[in-house]
Amino acid sequence: MRLVLLGPPGAGKGTLANLLKERLNVAHISTGDILRQEMKDGSSLGQEAKSFIERGDLVPDELVTRLIESVLKNNANTDKGYMLDGFPRTKQQAEDLSRILKEINQPIEYAIYLDSTLPVVLKRLTGRRVCRNCGALYHMENKPSKVNGICDECEGPLYQRPDDNETTIKTRMEVYVDNTQPIVTYYDNEGLLQRVDADKDASEVESILMKIFDENSAKN
Ligand code: ADP
Ligand code: AMP
Repeated sequence: MRLVLLGPPGAGKGTLANLLKERLNVAHISTGDILRQEMKDGSSLGQEAKSFIERGDLVPDELVTRLIESVLKNNANTDKGYMLDGFPRTKQQAEDLSRILKEINQPIEYAIYLDSTLPVVLKRLTGRRVCRNCGALYHMENKPSKVNGICDECEGPLYQRPDDNETTIKTRMEVYVDNTQPIVTYYDNEGLLQRVDADKDASEVESILMKIFDENSAKN
């Protein structure tokens, strides 16, 4: 199965991808995670992306599209399918993705729109904590780790993403409304859109999505 996860920052794309990847046996490809890893490694791509990410702006289309094209064309673990998280984020990226997927004959089956309201995503982003070691996601109130500041999975230290501060969150939300929200319509026009109320608990959203997948596979 191949799908794209759409929705504002904090809608729960990474959380849902983690819940679904085992059940669906597909890869989770997050451009945000890949770019943060490139920054950590100090690669030239990471260095180019750094200032955009720190400001909450989008990394230029050309850089991110080149990155995703390389992942989709060269990664063996995308054979069984994948969930794209954080890509596409602009109309240009959506069009480039359609071109790439046509070239490799891997059409997208679903565009899942995690529709979440502003007060909810703001609380999620300010309370988000991430394991520095394995990337597991936590939330100070919704999903606290058992021991404060320590990952339940690997005992790595938890940190707050530097772009999860109020000023940068505001920019990211504006960037989302101007650039990313319009591609919901793009996928609706393609007949691929599934809209889900993502203010609900993650487990509830997961069940709703599994139901959609089951109903569609029964039809086909
Ligand atoms: P995104 O990938 O869309 O930016 P994340 O999956 O990283 O969002 O989630 C942001 C924060 O909100 C995390 O701290 C996560 O634990 C929490 N969260 C995500 N989805 C839900 C949900 N449905 N209910 C409650 N908390 C959630
Ligand atoms: P995320 O982890 O999805 O919240 O992304 C963190 C940051 O990485 C964003 O605020 C952007 O600066 C950058 N980024 C991630 N994906 C993309 C993309 N598809 N296009 C442009 N910038 C991106």
